[in-house]
Order: sequence, then structure tokens, then C-alpha cells
Amino acid sequence: MGQSISELEPKRVFTFFDQITKIPRGSGNEKAISDYLVDFADRRGLLAYRDDFNNVTILKPATAGMEDKDTVILQAHMDMVCIADKEATADPAKDPIDTYVDGDHIKARGTTLGADDGIGMSLILAVLDSDDVAHPMIEAVFTSDEEVGLNGANGYDCSRLKGKRFINLDSEEEYHLVIGCAGGCKCDLTTKCKNTKAEGVIYELTITGLAGGHSGMEIDKGGANANSLMGWLLSEALQSVELNLGSFEGGIKDNAICAEATATVVVKKKHTKTFEKIVKTFTDLVTVEYGKTDPGFTLKCKDKGKGKLEVMSTKDLYRFASLLNILPHGVAKMSQTTDMVETSSNLAIVSAKPKSFRICVSIRSNKEATLELLLRRIETMADAFSVTHERRGFYSAWETDEISDFARSAKELYTRKFNRNIEIISIHAGLECAVFSQKIKGLDAISIGPDMEGVHSPSEKLSISSTAREWEFLQELLKL
Ligand SMILES: [Zn+2]
Repeated sequence: MGQSISELEPKRVFTFFDQITKIPRGSGNEKAISDYLVDFADRRGLLAYRDDFNNVTILKPATAGMEDKDTVILQAHMDMVCIADKEATADPAKDPIDTYVDGDHIKARGTTLGADDGIGMSLILAVLDSDDVAHPMIEAVFTSDEEVGLNGANGYDCSRLKGKRFINLDSEEEYHLVIGCAGGCKCDLTTKCKNTKAEGVIYELTITGLAGGHSGMEIDKGGANANSLMGWLLSEALQSVELNLGSFEGGIKDNAICAEATATVVVKKKHTKTFEKIVKTFTDLVTVEYGKTDPGFTLKCKDKGKGKLEVMSTKDLYRFASLLNILPHGVAKMSQTTDMVETSSNLAIVSAKPKSFRICVSIRSNKEATLELLLRRIETMADAFSVTHERRGFYSAWETDEISDFARSAKELYTRKFNRNIEIISIHAGLECAVFSQKIKGLDAISIGPDMEGVHSPSEKLSISSTAREWEFLQELLKL
């Protein structure tokens, strides 16, 4: 038997974390966890209410001597991303998480751990449960469906909240105090194509092994995108080879940098040598260009023999390959105030068949004005190739031009307490603070959280010592 999670220090935080990891709580399945929260409040005589989105709010009055201080809103999301690898024996969507302690970390066997954002919830519950932590009036907000588009936060009725000071506990790096985040939008480019038949040698081109990663947090690494690379290769080949496209598939999620893509092409028999040479030259070029960021890059070109295939017309293939080649992927603009990415785009999902193609570009920006400019640019490119474009899934940025007194005091407090620096930053991913700061005028928000790695993957792990510091930090923040 390994060490039990509930025995770890600070016990009052990890006891709740242990309980939470036993309740399946994938996005869209939050009834049980919201029951747990309401029950938690009932047992302690705290006022709680739940809405139609399963968002739960728990109120706790100020402790003695703190009644005159401003109300603080503490917020975390209750859902988690449920992912299991091949070795996993449990299904995180249905079973308790199989947690264990490894040195300074809590991990899960073969699945996501759900420290994002189970540990944020636990820190808040520890405050609500305490009778020895001094704090002003607390409004604790536990939201649902964060991981699938901030649905709980979007649906949340803020009119009952009194607090203006807001602490979100959904950050993943202890040494970062977050005061801003990116907004985003997806743009789908779609068109019908003319289909035809082509005869020649059929090749299956497959790009694998790119680093990929989260399109917000890892876009600054400058890694390659499989859809862009394939577009680059097709455009290059079309210059000197008679070639047709049977199908194309690349990317699965619009918030992940596309790491794999496959295309089936038909090449005229007389051009196969040239084609194979182009593929070889291209492979060598990419291997050098992306050697540091994507050392695992592989391009397979499988000769499937002679045959006849239904393909898209050559004219349509030119439109498709050109668009893939010119649509921007990666960092579009750096911030002028921090060394963070301000605006970026990700050529997230691409699919093509003989009769149609679809390209989904996902754009993020910490400034809504530059988000709009980049969207327009992408739409202009689509127009130039007579391709239909449609925006979807817009979410607001949390724009902060000034560092508030609260954020500044929080930074000073942390530095004094732990004798270490904490950096005030804006992140290039989405946070629910964006939604709450849109809804509550004059909201003074920060986001903090203990160190975690590999969130949204089975390698997710949570630092125990960092959690202990965050607990200390949070208690002090409530006195500010
Ligand atoms: Zn989260």
C-alpha cells in the first residue's frame, strides 16, 4: 500500500481532494459532484444554491473582526477532462480516479488526475470548512462544464454576487499570478468541390511525431503543424508534378496543435520519380527546420501501387493546397507589455474528400481588437479562393491593461512569505475570469494555483509541496 492522499499535509486540503477524485465528474456529468457540494454546505449549515447548469454557490459569513472587509469571491470549476491511456484499468468518466503518491507528486494510474481543477475546489472547501482561518464574507462559486467551452460560467447568474474581489483557483503554475487571458474564435472554411477520376500511382502520405500540444500554452514553442506541412508539400509537388487528391485528414481537436495528417494522392506514372524526390527533399528540409521543436517528425510515403481513384478536380486541389499553405499557423503577434504571445492561430482540423473540403482555424488573442483583425485576414484569404467562412465558438478575452492594487499586494505578499518571486502575467489560454469580468463591472480578479504538469493527459501530476504553499498563500490573501 502506498501513502494515502488524505494523510498528506495540508490534511484539510488533501482530504477534500481525495474525496473529489472518487466522484466521476467529466464535463457534462456534474450532477454527482454538485450534490456533493450542496451536501457539504448543508452539513455545515452554510447557505448554498445550485442553478440549472449545476453551478453551485456556497456562502460563508465573515469571521469575527472581518465583517467590514469586502466580500471575496473564490472560484473553481468542478468538471475535469477524462482521458485514459491503453494501460488504464479504470474509466475516469465512470470510476474513481486511481491516485497514488510518487515523491512530491500525486499522480493517477493511466488516467487524468483531475487536479485541474479538483485541487482548486479542495482549497476553497478547506476555507469553507475551517473555523480557524480569518476571512471576510466568502462567495464560493463552483462552475460546471469549464473544459468544454466555459458553459457553466457563461450561464451563471452573477446578479446575486456582492463581491468585487475575485480569486480564481485554476492556474497551473505557482510562480505565476495571472491577471489576464486570451479570448478566441474558430473560423470554419468550407467549400464544395468538383469530383473526377484519376489514374496513376496511389501514395499515402502520413506525417506523424510532431510535438503538438495545447494551442494556447504551447504555441510559443514554434513547433510545426502537420496540416500546414502537408499543404506546403502538396503546393510544392503541384509545381512540377501532375497530382490529384483523394482524401486528407489532419487534427482532431481545435485546441490542439495538429501533430498528425494523412493525404492520399494519385500521381501520373511518368511523374512518380520526381514526386518521390520532392518528398525526400521536403522531408530533409523539415527535419532541419524543425529539428529542435519536433525531433520526432516523420513523413511516410507509402506506394500503394497503380490504380484509379475518385479525386477532387485539379482546380479545387489548387485552392485547397494554396489555402493550407498560406493560412497562418503559430504566433501572429507578441504582447507589447510582457514577453508573452498576444495573438496566434492554429490550423487545427482539416478534412478533404473528392466533393468538399473543410479547414478549421482556431484563433486566440489577449486583445479582442487584434483577434478581430486576424479573423478578417483569414476571411479575406477564404474569399480570395471563393471558399465560404463561418465564425463559431467566440469567447471573450480577459483584458487587463493595468495591474490592480490587489494583484500588486498579492505579489508582495507571496514574495515576503516565501522569499521567492511570483511573476504577474497574462496567459494565452482561456480562463473563466474572462466571463466573470465581463459580467461583473469593476471586478478585480486574479488567478492562482499550485504547480501541475501534463494536465488533460494521463501524465497529469500535482505537486504536494506547491499545494501546501498555495494553501498558506490563500489564507493570507483572504486577509488583504
Ligand atoms: Zn482548469
